[in-house]
Amino acid sequence: MQRVAVFGATGSIGTSALDVIARHPQAMRASVLAAGRQVEALLALCRRHRPEHAVIADPAAYPALRDGLRAAGLATEAHAGDAALAALAAGEACDTVVAAIVGAAGLPSTLAAVRAGKRVLLANKESLVLAGELLMQAARAGEATLVPIDSEHNAVFQCLAGAGEAAAVARITLTASGGPFRGWSRAALASVTPAQAVAHPTWAMGPKISVDSATLMNKGLEVIEAHHLFGLPPERIAVLVHPQSLVHALVDYVDGSCLAQLGRPDMRTALAVGLGWPRRLASGVPLLDLLAQGGRLDFEPPDTEAFPCLALAYAALRAGGAAPAVLNAANEEAVSAFLQGRIGFLSIPDIVRHALDHMPSHAAGSLESLLEADARARAHARARIAALSAGGSA
Ligand code: NAD
Ligand code: MG
Repeated sequence: MQRVAVFGATGSIGTSALDVIARHPQAMRASVLAAGRQVEALLALCRRHRPEHAVIADPAAYPALRDGLRAAGLATEAHAGDAALAALAAGEACDTVVAAIVGAAGLPSTLAAVRAGKRVLLANKESLVLAGELLMQAARAGEATLVPIDSEHNAVFQCLAGAGEAAAVARITLTASGGPFRGWSRAALASVTPAQAVAHPTWAMGPKISVDSATLMNKGLEVIEAHHLFGLPPERIAVLVHPQSLVHALVDYVDGSCLAQLGRPDMRTALAVGLGWPRRLASGVPLLDLLAQGGRLDFEPPDTEAFPCLALAYAALRAGGAAPAVLNAANEEAVSAFLQGRIGFLSIPDIVRHALDHMPSHAAGSLESLLEADARARAHARARIAALSAGGSA
């Protein structure tokens, strides 16, 4: 019996993961469920999946979780805070961790899980952007099995199976849907609203990644993620816009052969790959119908003028050191301010660029130095957000 900890259980990925797990009651069960602050949603999941442990990140919500579990007559043990999350990730209660917390907040528990040698289904891309080298080193040292869940990286992972030596790979290509504003001019983007930005054309996802998809920062974060996961330099990681979101990634080999992975835009496929690998599991996702959308697979280059975030991410990756951590932290702050209606859509790349330009670049030797760069970039971005929202020039 595979015991699975689902971190970010109340979110979009967490929901999909629990759906796949519940399809295989003989082989696996959810033994730990964790969420940020949504106690009622976490309690509902506990009633349904009966885990041994439930964790709420926000300590203020602990009494509500504990009392709710007791009132429901469940034996589930209540916990709160990041330390409890890390301890459960590393401890006996799980073999597998679905790392699906959003943002840099997911790093400590992901690190704890890879250090403990768990099978880690990594959806939390921000932890790789913030501390990719350290995380990959820790995964090797801990002999963890790291399966990328981001659909493009999961696609590459599948295309690389049996690839032999890394030198055989000439290039990988990540596809992007282009988001809700594909084809829009920069001028038209100035007045878009949060509701428009989170209305993704092909994928149903949480609000932060939906905005990242609309700015193309999501693809930028994914280029950095791919660099760490697959050990390729930025010039061998390409991006193609593919509006149907059916081809998730392509891997070119030195002999001219190109392998692609296709499937419906439903994260349960990637999660089933992660839960079952190297076996294949039913995921609930219907088979791909290539005729459904007029039999077309379209591709176009990304518009880096209207969507500068992709180029900012490549620049941060090339700069190295703490630059990706700065990019990620400034972006998290900017996206949060945009979702709150405090700044406009075009201020997101502006804030990220400003942070990259003004933060001294330092080496990324230790976790402490990266977390310090993260904190300083957040402070820098918040000051810029305050100036932009006060000046009305957002
Ligand atoms: P979401 O907003 O739907 O869910 C986020 C989850 O994280 C929630 O359960 C929330 O309670 C929890 N959380 C938030 N802050 C936390 C904290 N400080 N401590 C503990 N838990 C916290 O997000 P999502 O769309 O499910 O995305 C999750 C991660 O997966 C992100 O890193 C995202 O980039 C990545 N991802 C998502 C998709 C997708 O299809 N949704 C695809 C690829 C990658
Ligand atoms: Mg993706």
